[in-house]
Amino acid sequence: MPRISPIIAKTAKDARRAMLAALGGGVIAIAGLTAGQEYSQGQRALATERLLEARAAADRVALLQNRLDLEARLAAATGEESWMTQYAATLTELDEAIAAVALYANLSDGFRFQSEVRLAHDKVAERARLALDQARAGDLGAARSLLTDPVQPYHQGLFQQSIERFIAAMADDVQDTLARLHRWELSVIAAFILLTGLAAFALWRQLAVNLAQAERLHAEAEGKIKRLAMNDVLTGLSNRLAFRTGLKTAISRAESAKSKLAVMMIDLDRFKPINDRYGHLVGDLILKEVADRLRSVGRIGDIRARFGGDEFVAVVEYENDDRIPIRAGEQMVERLSEPIRCNGLNLEVGASVGLAIYPDDANDDEALLAKADFALYRAKRDGRGAVRRFDASMDDAIKEAAQLEAEMPAAIKSQAITPYFQPLIDLATGTVTGFEVLARWHHPSKGLVQPADFIKIAEKSTLIDDLAMALLTRACMEMRSLPPHLTLAINLSSRQIQDERIAHRILAVLSKTKFSPSRLEVELTESALVNDIEAAKTVIRAFKRLGVRIALDDFGTGYSSLSYLSELPFDKIKIDRSFIRTLHNQRESAKVVSAIVGLGKSLGVPIIAEGIETARDEEVVRTMGCSIAQGFYYSQPVPAVELPGLLAKTYGAAVKALPQVVAVA
Ligand code: C2E
Ligand code: MG
Ligand code: MG
Repeated sequence: MPRISPIIAKTAKDARRAMLAALGGGVIAIAGLTAGQEYSQGQRALATERLLEARAAADRVALLQNRLDLEARLAAATGEESWMTQYAATLTELDEAIAAVALYANLSDGFRFQSEVRLAHDKVAERARLALDQARAGDLGAARSLLTDPVQPYHQGLFQQSIERFIAAMADDVQDTLARLHRWELSVIAAFILLTGLAAFALWRQLAVNLAQAERLHAEAEGKIKRLAMNDVLTGLSNRLAFRTGLKTAISRAESAKSKLAVMMIDLDRFKPINDRYGHLVGDLILKEVADRLRSVGRIGDIRARFGGDEFVAVVEYENDDRIPIRAGEQMVERLSEPIRCNGLNLEVGASVGLAIYPDDANDDEALLAKADFALYRAKRDGRGAVRRFDASMDDAIKEAAQLEAEMPAAIKSQAITPYFQPLIDLATGTVTGFEVLARWHHPSKGLVQPADFIKIAEKSTLIDDLAMALLTRACMEMRSLPPHLTLAINLSSRQIQDERIAHRILAVLSKTKFSPSRLEVELTESALVNDIEAAKTVIRAFKRLGVRIALDDFGTGYSSLSYLSELPFDKIKIDRSFIRTLHNQRESAKVVSAIVGLGKSLGVPIIAEGIETARDEEVVRTMGCSIAQGFYYSQPVPAVELPGLLAKTYGAAVKALPQVVAVA
């Protein structure tokens, strides 16, 4: 599409050109008309002058003719030679005058005048010559009678008439010239008017074409801006703004038609690791493909939107049957679980769907979205590829979450939320190497609340930071009285990992409590890292500079992307407890654990096994090569007061192994 500004510039230029052309045309027209008028005036004056001169010449011919007649009469009356000589001279003069008159006339008039005048003159002159001959011979009477013959005035009359005809013809000629000039003037004016009109029309047309093009482009640009404002640029789906508007309209429609609609929140299960691993270009192609696949589910006019990242939303409008949106959700999951071929790769993204129904679950757009979001959270928690509809139990959960959020600031302050400690056991010696801090909330009415019930709430609000700092401060203080080789592991959430200032905040707590950074370990989950891997890298580097160690928590559950392991300088890897739980009855789990241990060995990173509940668990992970273990088999997470008691013991198989070692010794 041509850009709009050059068109506008061209239109403006054309308009300027048109103005200049009109101005120039006007000046030229005025100059042309003035010149034309001057020319025609000159021509008119010339014609009039020629007419006057011709008349004067004709008068002179008439005068000379009269004089000739008089001289002939005098010569005839007196017989004197002088009159005769005079007569001869005048005759020559008259002859010349006749020739001169003819010069003023056009060819035919001149010729006619010459022949007529000369004919009449010749007749008169003939008689005069005869009369003079008689006079010269002395017969004055004969001479006089020749000149007084009535034929003579007749010829003279003819002579006079031809002069008058000539004058009249000349006048006609001049009239013709003047009329021709007038016509010429008119045609010049008409030509100017026509040319100016044509030029003006051409310019106007050009301007009109340019203006129309500028208008069209402007309208197109306006439409594009509108589309951009309402559409997600990458996928072409509606954006958040357009979705909100569309949803409101759909709700009013459903309200008046007494029908229903479902808000579907769709989240891609494995988009982030794919995006991180293969880059944004591949990520973008996947998002476009996902958008296309979502368009293929449901009706054409249904609202489909992308809220950003890998978060999609759809609205399904239907009559009454609630199975329709559930089926639509299942279709979406099905379509999105089909591998996406992209740049020669076969990528499986998968999706989870949460939905809330109008009017059953909520009546307004905001509540519908919040409830669909909650249902999505449940769907993701229940495993990938699930479709969950909001239900009343979630409503209670929402209310409970709101209550906990409201109570949390006071609970942090009063230390109702407090650190519990779970020991990490060195499998070689059976001794405690350190503790993981796990938050517990002593709630006045709910009893001991587990982190699963409040950490997410703290993460969603801004309370997670205050909570983490309060727990760390307490934990460091409790650890001060314990042997210095014991480490302390804390968990950081995804929100904290994206905050560049986190390392400094933690350092401030460590300085305040005089706890060495080398004793601290920060546990990060893959899901916390994937949100913004670059930000995470920065924060991790800052921790490393302080001498704080980094452990990758719950490994194997998230995206198990090996790229994190090679890119980020982890000091420990913790295998997620779900593998330990299924170690004995799922061969796959054993394979995964052994692969992770192998990986740790090749990277030179110790592997920690979480969730060790039995001696058998411990035996298997030890055989596989894990060096550290954590789990209820050794100890539940306990409050600080129990720590000295934990340290006094030796744990697990090492307890039995010890006497054997002693015996051998
Ligand atoms: P995590 O970091 O993976 O912590 C280990 C979880 O496994 C703890 O659950 C612990 O009680 C549990 N566990 C340990 N051994 C066993 C076992 O043998 N069997 C079973 N079934 N479970 C075992 P907990 O305390 O409920 O914490 C859950 C998650 O909450 C933690 O997982 C961690 O990600 C998060 N969390 C806990 N406290 C905090 C905190 O202060 N801040 C942040 N950001 N997250 C925290
Ligand atoms: Mg942990
Ligand atoms: Mg863990």
